[in-house]
Amino acid sequence: MQCIRENDNELLAWWFFASRNDSTAGSRETPDAGSDLLTGGAPGLSLQRPGFGITSKFYISAPDFAPAAMSALPLHRSPPDASLLTSLRELLGNRLSTSAAVCAQHGKDESYHMPHAPDAVAFVQSAEEVSAIVTLCAHHKMPVIAFGTGTSLEGHVAALAGGVCIDLSQMNRIIRVSAEDLDATVEAGVTRKQLNEHLRDTGLFFPIDPGADASLGGMAATRASGTNAVRYGTMRENVLALTVVLADGRVIRTARRARKSAAGYDLTRLFVGSEGTLGIITEVTVRLYGIPEAVSAAVCAFPSIERAVDTVILTIQSGVPVARIELLDEAQMAAINKYSKLDHKVAPTLFFEFHGTPAGVAEQAEVVKAIAAEHGGEGFRWATTPEERSKLWQARHDAYYAALALRPGSKGLATDVCVPISRLAECITETKRDLLQSPIPYALVGHVGDGNFHLVFIIDPDRPEEVAEASRLNDRMVARALAMEGTSTGEHGVGYGKMDFLIAEHGEAVGVMRTIKKALDPQGILNPGKIVRV
Ligand SMILES: Cc1cc2nc3c(=O)[nH]c(=O)nc-3n(C[C@H](O)[C@H](O)[C@H](O)COP(=O)(O)OP(=O)(O)OC[C@H]3O[C@@H](n4cnc5c(N)ncnc54)[C@H](O)[C@@H]3O)c2cc1C
Repeated sequence: MQCIRENDNELLAWWFFASRNDSTAGSRETPDAGSDLLTGGAPGLSLQRPGFGITSKFYISAPDFAPAAMSALPLHRSPPDASLLTSLRELLGNRLSTSAAVCAQHGKDESYHMPHAPDAVAFVQSAEEVSAIVTLCAHHKMPVIAFGTGTSLEGHVAALAGGVCIDLSQMNRIIRVSAEDLDATVEAGVTRKQLNEHLRDTGLFFPIDPGADASLGGMAATRASGTNAVRYGTMRENVLALTVVLADGRVIRTARRARKSAAGYDLTRLFVGSEGTLGIITEVTVRLYGIPEAVSAAVCAFPSIERAVDTVILTIQSGVPVARIELLDEAQMAAINKYSKLDHKVAPTLFFEFHGTPAGVAEQAEVVKAIAAEHGGEGFRWATTPEERSKLWQARHDAYYAALALRPGSKGLATDVCVPISRLAECITETKRDLLQSPIPYALVGHVGDGNFHLVFIIDPDRPEEVAEASRLNDRMVARALAMEGTSTGEHGVGYGKMDFLIAEHGEAVGVMRTIKKALDPQGILNPGKIVRV
């Protein structure tokens, strides 16, 4: 692999070298799409994806660069052995379902990615049951796919090779809460809202909030984050320990409850973000936080995206411990106004939330207000009561569905990238300039305090050319983020939708990931076809 990156305009050349394989060949000269993104780099190469005319001097052959939706080819699939189904039925009784509707529901997530139904769904109630199922499936070389609440966005739960889906939603017991140690252990099917409901009278809360009411097991498996991550971190920082069923049925605990440990390899972090490809998480121990004494939220509109992002950068650089700082572009503001019956200005807008003592919150808000004013922010509109705050954040959480409601019958091609915050304005501006040249409607939101932003392309799923065009724009956004030392996904994860970007992002390290996958799952039964190709 070679890497040439004299400047950002050469990112696609770098991409080419990073992701090419022996099938990459030749060049196809076609008129340039006109974006400044595509003007530099090694001569004689052109980027061309099949079926739509993106062009440049770089060429990546179709097999390397098929749009994500097209690369959703099912893997080899054999029907489950009757004796496996009999054994599973003996174990689970009517908690094993082979109904077409139940299987179909478990083969899809919330994205546009093509669903693939498993052959059976097991509704488990204990780690022992998970272990027994995995042991049986290992014996029959049958795939096993963990399912939390199915809110992931990159085709994560699609049963590409069929197999048995393990639905953990009935493993929803809160095992223990320690107010003294600020931690809790829960079964993997507990959702974040369920945990916070349970904690309500303790003065504690669990802050990681991906919007969807996802399971803690699924959130750990996708290394989720969301609106609060700028202050509280992601699942990476907030998972203390996991209980995991391995591919051969063994059950391990990755760590104890100590806040820090130097004892051996950090298996907790290995399983966080492994998307069900290395083991099935049955218990999660997480950090908790005290509910802040004072919380205030505000909304501020800006004359441009750049001015809004500059406000964010200066806020972070000034060390203001803002709890949430979210960017919504004008399209997204129009969508939430309509969907959530609000009347905010249709302009690039920041949503803020401050946590602390009453004095601390007031001080943070004053500093941020002054920074916003310097950047043309039009005053702060405060949400003072808990009801107003919750209405505001509910509107933010409904942003995805609000965007889809703009075009009835549409599906969302949702994608996210994350860059160092100093490159955020540039990345968003170049991305928006690129999108201007495309007819596909989209909305942009971002957890911009982390340098993370999302696009949702509002596509007609029955029009392949729209899927292809949105995929093309997505590829370019990812390439742009990688060239800025960012990542192909800040929080949604890889699934099968972003597998093709991993080589470009990690190079040789993908080989190490593959080695780990083979060591822990030699038969390749755990969520096959996700993260790395084996
Ligand atoms: C409207 C909307 C907004 C969103 N916003 C955000 C956001 O801001 N930030 C963010 O991070 N995400 C966001 N997401 C994505 C999603 O909510 C997360 O990926 C979530 O963490 C997935 O949890 P889940 O329980 O739904 O897992 P599922 O979708 O069921 O599974 C996800 C993956 O994890 C694996 N898995 C699930 N449970 C286990 C387990 N117990 N053991 C091992 N593997 C398991 C599955 O096999 C699959 O690969 C959003 C989604 C939607 C629909």
